[in-house]
Amino acid sequence: MFRIGCHISSSGGYLAMGRRIDALGGNTFAFFTRNPRGGAAKDVDPADVAAFLDFCREKDIDRLVAHAPYTLNPCAEKENVRQFALTAFADDLKRMEYTPGQYYNFHPGSHVGQGMEIGIAKIAQVLDQVLFPEMTTTVLLETMSGKGSEVGGRFEQLRAIIDRTALNEKLGVCLDTCHVWDAGYDVVGDLDGVLTEFDRVVGLDRLKAVHLNNTKNDLGAAKDRHEKLPDGKLPLDAIRRIVTHPALEKLPFILETPNDEAGYAAEIALVRSLHG
Ligand code: FE
Ligand code: FE
Ligand code: ZN
Repeated sequence: MFRIGCHISSSGGYLAMGRRIDALGGNTFAFFTRNPRGGAAKDVDPADVAAFLDFCREKDIDRLVAHAPYTLNPCAEKENVRQFALTAFADDLKRMEYTPGQYYNFHPGSHVGQGMEIGIAKIAQVLDQVLFPEMTTTVLLETMSGKGSEVGGRFEQLRAIIDRTALNEKLGVCLDTCHVWDAGYDVVGDLDGVLTEFDRVVGLDRLKAVHLNNTKNDLGAAKDRHEKLPDGKLPLDAIRRIVTHPALEKLPFILETPNDEAGYAAEIALVRSLHG
């Protein structure tokens, strides 16, 4: 089953998200677990979740790729920022269990001058505090562009976080096509080479989802600015090779392109036509 969807607003609850992604022609989706700027999350309504899960079964919608707030920085130097990361992360993972067996994606963080080594160690420490043996959710580290002091611009950094986390059977990776390109991985000219490198460093069995984005920047710009699929530096032919690649084809593809709902519906249809 080919799975394509986009980021959906969570303001109306779970069933509303299911209905919306279905209306846009998608069969997988992403959403923010709470206001992306931080703050408290709404309580989960079990009746809403039950209706949503029924709807997903009926419509064959699968893979929620929940997204942690952008402000969550597990390797922050400031203690209050790190404390928010711990509290929000733990609370989100508890609420994810209402929808068992799904994905929770987060940006590893920015070490803000402490250095990559300390950043990696702090991220693994937070994971050690929030992962628990009974959880059914897989936590995904997102590949980053390497902008500023971001951790996760190199596959080796993701590997190091995984290696230092005790309960790392709960960890996977989400590959963002805009971010890896901006980080210098040439998914246009050498997709096979990039995936071979990913397999060597991290292992393709860890790869669980793809953020399918185009980019405004040149290869290696380390900038992270998403673009609409037809408009960016990645030609549609490269997008086609990504969504049909045997190592990726079975993964959920999530659009995070700058679009309104009509734009997302059009891009979902475009990706379906590229996939064939
Ligand atoms: Fe992200
Ligand atoms: Fe992303
Ligand atoms: Zn991005």
